[in-house]
Amino acid sequence: MTEMNFDAFGLATPILAALKHAGFVKPTPIQQGAIPHGLAGKDVLGLAQTGTGKTAAFALPILQAMAGHKLHNRRFSTRALILAPTRELAVQIEQEFKKFGAGLGLRVVLIVGGVGRSGQVARMSRGADIVVGCPGRVLDLMNTKELIIDQCQFFVLDEADRMLDLGFFPDIRKIVTHLPTRRQSALFSATMPAEIAKLAEGLLHDPVRVTVAAVASTPARIAQSVHFVEGAQKRELLVQLLRDPAFTRAIVFTRTKRGADRVALQLNGAKISATSLHGNLSQNARQRALDAFKSGEARVLVATDIAARGIDVSGVSHVVNFELPNEPESYVHRIGRTARNGAEGVAVAFCDATELPYLNQIEKLTGIKMQVASGTRPAQAMPVKKPQRHPDMVVRKAKPATAPGAKLGAKPRRPQYQEKRAKVA
Ligand code: ADP
Ligand code: MG
Repeated sequence: MTEMNFDAFGLATPILAALKHAGFVKPTPIQQGAIPHGLAGKDVLGLAQTGTGKTAAFALPILQAMAGHKLHNRRFSTRALILAPTRELAVQIEQEFKKFGAGLGLRVVLIVGGVGRSGQVARMSRGADIVVGCPGRVLDLMNTKELIIDQCQFFVLDEADRMLDLGFFPDIRKIVTHLPTRRQSALFSATMPAEIAKLAEGLLHDPVRVTVAAVASTPARIAQSVHFVEGAQKRELLVQLLRDPAFTRAIVFTRTKRGADRVALQLNGAKISATSLHGNLSQNARQRALDAFKSGEARVLVATDIAARGIDVSGVSHVVNFELPNEPESYVHRIGRTARNGAEGVAVAFCDATELPYLNQIEKLTGIKMQVASGTRPAQAMPVKKPQRHPDMVVRKAKPATAPGAKLGAKPRRPQYQEKRAKVA
């Protein structure tokens, strides 16, 4: 690949200054591949894992197009819409737009659930240049005409595969029907199952396909190993491992939210500073947990997949799979939290006899036989009591259209995957 710098894209001076300030010198492969096409007004279909720099890949062309074209925005209207699957990801994208667009005087508005909608409506009432949001709340505001996208010139769907997992596709299809046909779009995903390919086909016009690194590949810089350990012994082993000061900043993944809370409590009991991050926490509590982890106040973040997806914290030394995920791709995403930006990282997995099939699937996907750190590989797997769906998810019934406070004309919400409330002791 040719050596190049951001200077080569011909970006506006304030954007270049912001990039320099952020320490961005050389574009990552997805940025090298996608930015020139974005700047040329082409639609982009990007296939890349998390941590590859997708945000700037779609943000910079949009900012460049808006630089020097300050329009007077209509009330509640936006010129660009970026959809992300979780609030944390939306916040990160919003911050990146603000960072790189700092000198352009643009209005960037965040539209996510879990926080009051009145502040968001007030911001939209002055019109926006860029809206970054999650599908549920975006559709909610669209239904009440407090978010209007019929003049939207740029549309980005980020992490389409996670959107699919979370059941957001029906919402997305509805949102898309309100976009003008003349627009520039981009879709990013780590995988391209048939549903996503189909959505992309309807969404993108003659797209340029940009692919970097196969999903199955785990960065070679990550040392991976597995401890064969009985479920009941896992917490003790975790405490023992985390006593090692080499675990300067560790993310521990559990399968359930209750599990995350329990493990964090246990660690705190063992005088290891830990905080949990999952979907049952309020937006503020989640942000506090992330801030504590980023600042180093908490050395360990215990998280579920959905909450930690795409979370970008630099300097994560270790990722511990306290429980193995049943989708092998999740393993790849999880360990991608470490070894960012060329750093080295360590991934440790705990595997009990019921999880052996998951380990086998992971090894098959990554093509790497994991080094055994302790215990012995069970000769055969114990039967798994496999839940029909992820244990943190239940299908919630649709609210009746006449629910108190429902706006006239607002469509009733479809049944949606919702995170189940866990009782924390
Ligand atoms: P993705 O969306 O693919 O998961 P991000 O856009 O969140 O990746 O980028 C991952 C991290 O890498 C972020 O901390 C981002 O600031 C940093 N980063 C992205 N591109 C560059 C670059 N060209 N130079 C330096 N750091 C970068
Ligand atoms: Mg991203």
